[in-house]
Amino acid sequence: MPVAALKPGDLALIGLCTDDNSSLMRGAAAAPPAIRAALFSGASNLTTEAGLDLADHPSFVDLGDREPASGAGAVREIEALIAAILEKDARPLVLGGDHSLTYPVLRAMANRHGPMDILHFDAHPDLYDEWEGNRLSHACSLARIMEEGLTRRLVQVGIRTLNAPQKIQAERFGVEIHPMHRFDPRTFDPLFKGPLYLSFDLDALDPAFAPGVSHHEPGGLTMREALGIIQRIDVPLIGADIVEYNPRRDVQAITAAVAAKLVKEIGGRMLSKS
Ligand code: MN
Ligand code: MN
Repeated sequence: MPVAALKPGDLALIGLCTDDNSSLMRGAAAAPPAIRAALFSGASNLTTEAGLDLADHPSFVDLGDREPASGAGAVREIEALIAAILEKDARPLVLGGDHSLTYPVLRAMANRHGPMDILHFDAHPDLYDEWEGNRLSHACSLARIMEEGLTRRLVQVGIRTLNAPQKIQAERFGVEIHPMHRFDPRTFDPLFKGPLYLSFDLDALDPAFAPGVSHHEPGGLTMREALGIIQRIDVPLIGADIVEYNPRRDVQAITAAVAAKLVKEIGGRMLSKS
């Protein structure tokens, strides 16, 4: 469906087939069609655990996939695409692609809504100033967002790779990091006050649950823990992305099913307006 057909309040699912800014290996560009195939495979239904059925839901709109240009042009292209969705008062649910896309998405989000809060699931803080000479690398996306003041708060969960240079960046930007080694998902309450954007890098999950990612980092969240955090969000969820699925690394499409489940649960949460 074209962006022009969106109605206010719609949940707009859109895939961005891009992995130019991946540092280790390519493959995430092939993720959106694989996630969509899992979502509509018939292996499960489209009803969330709370009972909201996305199948034939009048506000669930699939915009299909786009292949953004490479380089700096991708930032402008992705920002313009998300801006067009927001112009319709819809809520974007973006399927990556690598994590670099969160920066242009947030530029559009902040331009429309003003600075919001971000809940960021990831094994990695993605706060490097630059990585291998690339300031648009997927390892730098949250640094760009913080520099430009696109968020009020950045709350990170799943983190288990915080090294010295990124610790300096986190302190510089006031990032609220909840490192895995002292994280209790049952009592986690970030006390968000206003509209929230959720960015879900699949490597936040333990590789046992999500092997189809480029950077395997053991000791991560269980899928159940991640779902619990998402299901307890009690502020308006106005946009989200699910990134870094790499089908080349997957086993029996397990991670595609995980990403599809996240589409349902995050999408369902976005459709409940509170
Ligand atoms: Mn990431
Ligand atoms: Mn990561």
